[in-house]
Amino acid sequence: MIKEQLEKIISEIPKEVALIAVSKTKPNQLILEAYDAGQRDFGENYVQELVDKATQLPKDIRWHFIGHLQSNKVKYIASFVYLIHSVDSLNLLKEINKQAIKHNRVINCLLQIYIAKEETKFGLSFDEASEILQSEVLKELKHICIKGFMAMASNTDNTDQIIQEFKSLKQFSLKFPELSVLSFGMSSDYTLAIQEGSTMIRIGSHIFGTRNYTK
Ligand SMILES: *Cc1c(COP(=O)(O)O)cnc(C)c1O
Repeated sequence: MIKEQLEKIISEIPKEVALIAVSKTKPNQLILEAYDAGQRDFGENYVQELVDKATQLPKDIRWHFIGHLQSNKVKYIASFVYLIHSVDSLNLLKEINKQAIKHNRVINCLLQIYIAKEETKFGLSFDEASEILQSEVLKELKHICIKGFMAMASNTDNTDQIIQEFKSLKQFSLKFPELSVLSFGMSSDYTLAIQEGSTMIRIGSHIFGTRNYTK
């Protein structure tokens, strides 16, 4: 099942677009099924769950952190996380840098931008992101590398609205040509996302089935 779903998605998307399999709430056994089908990039939203899975699962998995990240929890993932998609403040960048120094590595990050017309989504405005990218403090943080931007569109059936939101991010990103990674598009909207210039899609339920949060 998972293998077929992965193969189907991969056959539909351009080679340059990276596929992150979002495995939050899903057991190791299903992650291994995807792994055995060749998938290596997985996304998780919760620090404790990510730490447990990273300990138990194959070491060549690239773990993407895509959930809201609190500064005091960075230390738990700093030794191994491959890319943090959800950076939403300069303070968080400072903490990631501090923890990266302890592990003698550079941690790749994306700035999460708020593009949705909803109250509930985390992220920076375009102005706040510009401010961070132009700040003097950022230049001193040698153990982080900002690669691009992440965003989530509104949870709506209004395709035009989703397209407009994606376009706004793509447009903004053009001001920073060296930040070329654009992480947007989920199970419901990844086709639109790729049309609008996404380079990294984050797919959960289309690969693993719907999630059950009650367990
Ligand atoms: C859960 C989640 C996804 C995957 O959502 P699906 O709709 O299951 O594909 C992608 N991105 C983020 C930030 C998420 O929290």
